[in-house]
Amino acid sequence: MRIRFLGSGGGRFTTAYQLRRTGGFIIEDKGLTVHVDPGPGAARALRDFGEDVRKISGLIVSHAHPDHITDAAIVIEGMTDGARKKSGFLIGSFSVINGLEDYKPIGSYHLKALERVYKAKPGDIIDEGVKIEVIKAKHTDPTTIGFVWHGSRTITYYSDTGYWEGMERFARDVVIFNLEITFELPTHTHPGVVRRVLSKSSPKLVFITHYGRSVLRYGPEKLARELEREFGVEVIATKDGYEWSGGEEKTLFDF
Ligand SMILES: [Zn+2]
Ligand SMILES: [Zn+2]
Repeated sequence: MRIRFLGSGGGRFTTAYQLRRTGGFIIEDKGLTVHVDPGPGAARALRDFGEDVRKISGLIVSHAHPDHITDAAIVIEGMTDGARKKSGFLIGSFSVINGLEDYKPIGSYHLKALERVYKAKPGDIIDEGVKIEVIKAKHTDPTTIGFVWHGSRTITYYSDTGYWEGMERFARDVVIFNLEITFELPTHTHPGVVRRVLSKSSPKLVFITHYGRSVLRYGPEKLARELEREFGVEVIATKDGYEWSGGEEKTLFDF
């Protein structure tokens, strides 16, 4: 299996100023290639990092904030031969499929190009050859979802979230944290959330990514080393284009 980080940025300022790329990431495992949270620049990043958009089997879009959804329609067009060949799947939060108050969904033209669309809620287990367990999140888009990928490895993606009771029980093997800010907010992932989870769980490997501006100022590498020292777990601060393949690592582009 492998994970390719098409961007290591997130949050409004990193995204608006493109301090890091904001393309989300790809999980390739057991014959599936799934693109998670294709924010702005995802299509460009796929091309730059040598990923073939036509090989993507499905999308997971955790919520309808622009740093997660903006390029979804474009990636769907790439997956479906320009929306001419119905194929693939989308797992999305309620807001991603239906829209919610101020948040726009993926348009119906693009939803119709897909073979299967799952409006996911916490507790759902979706079987696309790999079982994908949907978990909750505590974020400003209240319908945000995270997931656990039950494939060759167990990968937990919490998406943008504040701490919620019991979230550490999903941190079993590989965990991906979206580190949005350095200061405390109840609805965003700050280092305190990561520390709380790691103090009550023992995952084998942790990725931090989706850095907001304050995290970039602090230094993701520095934070990763601190977390390693505190919890004795390997913590990788991702970079744009960073690829992990079950232990072998390489970075194509180093920004
Ligand atoms: Zn975000
Ligand atoms: Zn968000």
